[in-house]
Amino acid sequence: MKQFSLLIPLIIVIILNGCQHCVQYNTIENDITFDNIKEDFYSDIGIDVSHINIGFVDELKGEAVANCVYYPINASKNFIKVKRSWWKGATDILRKALIYHELGHCAILYYDHINNLRPDRCPVSLMHSYVINSYCLQRHWYEYITQLEGLK
Ligand SMILES: [Zn+2]
Repeated sequence: MKQFSLLIPLIIVIILNGCQHCVQYNTIENDITFDNIKEDFYSDIGIDVSHINIGFVDELKGEAVANCVYYPINASKNFIKVKRSWWKGATDILRKALIYHELGHCAILYYDHINNLRPDRCPVSLMHSYVINSYCLQRHWYEYITQLEGLK
């Protein structure tokens, strides 16, 4: 009987060790639509994000228009989902700001939101919770890039 009771913890240890090598990562197929923005991100911010898959989805939770799915124990598996209907109706600068924002989460230390505003009511960072309007993006683009770059 004593031998049997030792066997159970042993089996549990074997199962746990086995599963370190069988983690199933969700991912998304990379869409080449986003490749130019990834290249711009590399030249603007200096972080290579070519390995981060970005693809379209039809639905996201709540009001989200994109999100970064990240894996703290294996960041190379991080990926980004973008809501197709939002993308279709967005301008180039809004699209770029959205992808830079998500790359901020996925590629810069899981960077969190910054919701502070400037005196002119524009956000201080591309990492604002909401998509920033074109006026603020055009007016402060250089500062936004510099701010993201400073967070590496
Ligand atoms: Zn965000």
